[in-house]
Order: sequence, then structure tokens, then C-alpha cells
Amino acid sequence: MKLAAGIDIGSTTAKCVILKDSQVVASSLNPVGVNIVRDAEEALRKALAEASIDRSEVGFVTGTGYGRYKISFGQLTVTEISCHARGAHLLFPGTRLVIDIGGQDTKAIRVSERGEVVDFAMNDKCAAGTGRFLDVCAGALGFDVAEIGPLSLQARHPVKVSSTCTVFAESEVTSHVSRGKDPKDILAGLHTSIANRSLSLLQRVGIEPEVTFTGGVSRNEGMVRSLSARLGLPVNVSPLSQYMGAIGAALMGEERLKGGAAQ
Ligand code: ADP
Repeated sequence: MKLAAGIDIGSTTAKCVILKDSQVVASSLNPVGVNIVRDAEEALRKALAEASIDRSEVGFVTGTGYGRYKISFGQLTVTEISCHARGAHLLFPGTRLVIDIGGQDTKAIRVSERGEVVDFAMNDKCAAGTGRFLDVCAGALGFDVAEIGPLSLQARHPVKVSSTCTVFAESEVTSHVSRGKDPKDILAGLHTSIANRSLSLLQRVGIEPEVTFTGGVSRNEGMVRSLSARLGLPVNVSPLSQYMGAIGAALMGEERLKGGAAQ
């Protein structure tokens, strides 16, 4: 059987995975720029190159994410909500709740035992509680976003961050710094603030015992710990969690191929 590709064009990154027998055999991650059509092509090209796969071996391409309609060479487009649900269910079959924290929005998705969406809630009105909030605050403290999770875990006296608005939080961070607060303690406060917002979103769809954390912010170990502490439950995270939407998209393509939709 031919391979299936899933391409997730998010607000900040383009992700592509290639599936063979429901296993990820290649992946790529690129920043998204102004030319989404080109970013989607580049995501597929990079993933194919990584595993030396010829384009002709791919029988089905599914697009997801907010930029999915720009993937002109795909056969199917699916919402990222369904794709995160299916991807999380493939990697962690016991998943009943997904929290996806990406660059510009956060989604809580309740999932059936077959990986179908039962209910969802999302925050896409502003950057509060999203990766953007952490990116801006990391920048205000002079850190790269990849550094802030591990640093937050070294906090000894976490500060309370009361602003949920990204702009106000940035100035709150600056004022904590000028009062001599340890950046690690400020970071811990920022992570708790996002965990609190995520918990409210999860409560809107109903807390379930097995939770899977997806999206780029799941790469942040401080966020994983903070969320798990607020939930009072462990959360599933995989090194492929940022690719979960692309994985779900590819999986739906694989099912079409099995059903005889080979191109
Ligand atoms: P989107 O799908 O909206 O483009 P992603 O799911 O790719 O967004 O998530 C992007 C966010 O992930 C960034 O805003 C950033 O906060 C976070 N992120 C990306 N890489 C890392 C990393 N190495 N460590 C911590 N956070 C990260």
C-alpha cells in the first residue's frame, strides 16, 4: 500500500508526517511565513527528503490546521480538532481528553473510545493562555522559549502572575524583574497561569481520567508538570506531540487508501 502524508499548517509552524502502516516514518517542522502554499510544499518536501522517500510513493495527502485550504495538492482537508483527536488516540489509545496548546490558540477536546470528537471548547480570541503568551514573556525575560520550561522547574518561590492578557503579563514580568524577583520564580508563575486557563477550558468539556497534551507547548516540560499538577492527573506526552494534528490527518488518509482511494 502507498504511504499517507498529513500536513498541518498552524499559525506559527507547518508540520508534515508520513505514515506507513500507521507508524510515523518521516516528519518535518518549518516556520509558517506569508506564502502558505510554498510552506506546505516545503513541509512535504522536507519530510520526504528526511527518509529518502520518493513523492510517487505517497498515495494520499490530507491537510489540516488553519491554513489547510491552501494545500492545493492534497486530496482531503479535515479540521485540526478531529485530527488532534485521532492522532492522540493512535499514540495513546486510552485518551478521552486532549489539550492542544499551539502558537495562537488552545483547544480542549473530549474524545470517544474510537478517537472521535465528542465535544470541544477553544480559546482563539486572543493570545492569553497560548504559546504566544509564553513566547512573549520568554522574550521579555531574555530567554528562548525552549529554555523556559526547564528553568521554571527550578523555581523556589513562584510568584503569582495575575494578568492573563499577554500585553499586561509582559509588563507584569518586567515589573517583577525590576523588583528583583528571580526569573525562574516568574517563569513558574507564568506556567501556573497558563495551566489555570487550560484547566478552565478542560472543565468546560468535562475532565476525563486519561488526558493527552498536544501542540508545540507540550514540548515545554514545565508546562507538562504544571498542567498535570493542576489537573491532579498524569498527562500523556510524546516526542511527536507537536505533530499530533498531522498524524491524525495522515491516519485519515491511510484509511482512505485502505478503502481503495489510492491515487
Ligand atoms: P501552531 O500549530 O499554532 O502553529 P504549534 O502547535 O506548532 O503551533 O506550537 C507553537 C508553540 O509551541 C510556540 O508558540 C511555542 O510556545 C511552543 N514551542 C515550540 N517549540 C518549543 C520548544 N522546543 N520548547 C517549548 N515550547 C515550544
